[in-house]
Amino acid sequence: MLSNLPIMLSQTDDATAAVATRLQEVRARLARAAATAGRDPTAITLVAVSKTHNRSAVNAAFAVGQVHFAENRVQEAMAKFTDRPASLRLHLIGRLQTNKARDAVAIADVIEGLDRPDLADALARAADRLGRCPELLVQVNTGAEPQKAGVAPAEAPGFIRDMQRRFGACLTGLMCIPPVDADPVPHFRTLARIAAEHGLHGLSMGMSDDFEAAIACGATSIRVGRAIFGTRLRELPATA
Ligand SMILES: *Cc1c(COP(=O)(O)O)cnc(C)c1O
Repeated sequence: MLSNLPIMLSQTDDATAAVATRLQEVRARLARAAATAGRDPTAITLVAVSKTHNRSAVNAAFAVGQVHFAENRVQEAMAKFTDRPASLRLHLIGRLQTNKARDAVAIADVIEGLDRPDLADALARAADRLGRCPELLVQVNTGAEPQKAGVAPAEAPGFIRDMQRRFGACLTGLMCIPPVDADPVPHFRTLARIAAEHGLHGLSMGMSDDFEAAIACGATSIRVGRAIFGTRLRELPATA
């Protein structure tokens, strides 16, 4: 047993170093994309998507200054983040089941998947009871894909206005996940246009492969998983 220890430690150190190195690369890409777009890089929040990765990966990123993390399953988020540094900000991304709303409100600083009235009801009840309202982003299904979460583009204006009336300042922006294999730029532009039409500032868009384009289109928040943590450790269903 003891003879294994140095090897285990060096593997852990390697994994930690790899996260730190990749994080630096992503920060450099973010800075270049902001410069190209003539934007202030500090106006763009890097959200590290840690789904499927363990706490040591999260700790490695946090240790080198990463503040925002995201998970797409409430249970996994609770296991990994219930006990966390006060300065760490936790986002929940993607489809959120209504029966997870209470746990989501209890644990998350930002919920990015508001997309239907029954979920809004459940979140409002939980926020009332728990006396806390996380930041909320409306997810827009810009590609109108039947299998994807998010409010349909045609219904977005009405839904967003309802959510603004209901949640006030807690409703801070919009989020989208463009269709796989499509040019994401028209989707980013659509989201930016809808946000502007509703006076919303927050635009969560762009992932590992396309966040430069999202920054060019005005993203205020990018969600980056693989480029920071490497390949996902298992494939996940799209449900929180
Ligand atoms: C997994 C995930 C990401 C991160 O994707 P990468 O391609 O790993 O950067 C971003 N947004 C959502 C909603 C996700 O589920």
